[in-house]
Amino acid sequence: MTRPPPSARTSAFRFRKPLVVGLVAILAGIVVALGHPLLNPSPGPAAGPGQDSSTLLPAPSPPDRPPSHAPHRGGRGALDETDGVVPDGATVLDHEVSAVANLHAELLDALRRAAQDAADDGVTFTVNSGWRSRAYQEELLRRAVARYGSEAEAARWVATATTSPHVSGDAVDIGPDRATDGLSEHGSAYGLCRIYRNEPWHFELRADAADRGCPRRYADPTQDPRMRQ
Ligand SMILES: [Zn+2]
Repeated sequence: MTRPPPSARTSAFRFRKPLVVGLVAILAGIVVALGHPLLNPSPGPAAGPGQDSSTLLPAPSPPDRPPSHAPHRGGRGALDETDGVVPDGATVLDHEVSAVANLHAELLDALRRAAQDAADDGVTFTVNSGWRSRAYQEELLRRAVARYGSEAEAARWVATATTSPHVSGDAVDIGPDRATDGLSEHGSAYGLCRIYRNEPWHFELRADAADRGCPRRYADPTQDPRMRQ
């Protein structure tokens, strides 16, 4: 098993903002000095600091991270915000968004405390998915099966409506990467734990994590006993 190197980070929610800002300034200086065609927006591999790398990486996001637009508008049984479809830019503070409001109160409280501390470092917790209706979860699973070609492979990414902690209001998918990186490292202080190694955005509440640390992560949801129901 790989172990993370000893952390050079300090207390909770230090997001190395000064370094990022410094890199921006340095890169901007290089671009200006060279008059370089970097200014032409060909989709290169370098992620601009401050940008969510998910918008730059060519790899498709797994279906556990739903698209930000509402799926299947106009289709039969169209899903909407009352199913937990998340409007663009929703945060953990958006009380009126069902995906946020229907999360368990303790999870929501922990998220908001962590988000407040992260905000002091200039980081906003975006909610990419939270509570979902059974219908929404079933739609995500259908799409995952179509995409991965089998129910077994889809199960690595999307739970059923019966087993999904999103449907029970116990899980939230957070972005962007700066938020999830910080939460992976410091979330246990708030009881917030990453559960799966293949889903760095997926967090749940583990009430004793502040004292004991977060439990060992599963490789993916198929390793999670809760999924075998
Ligand atoms: Zn999730």
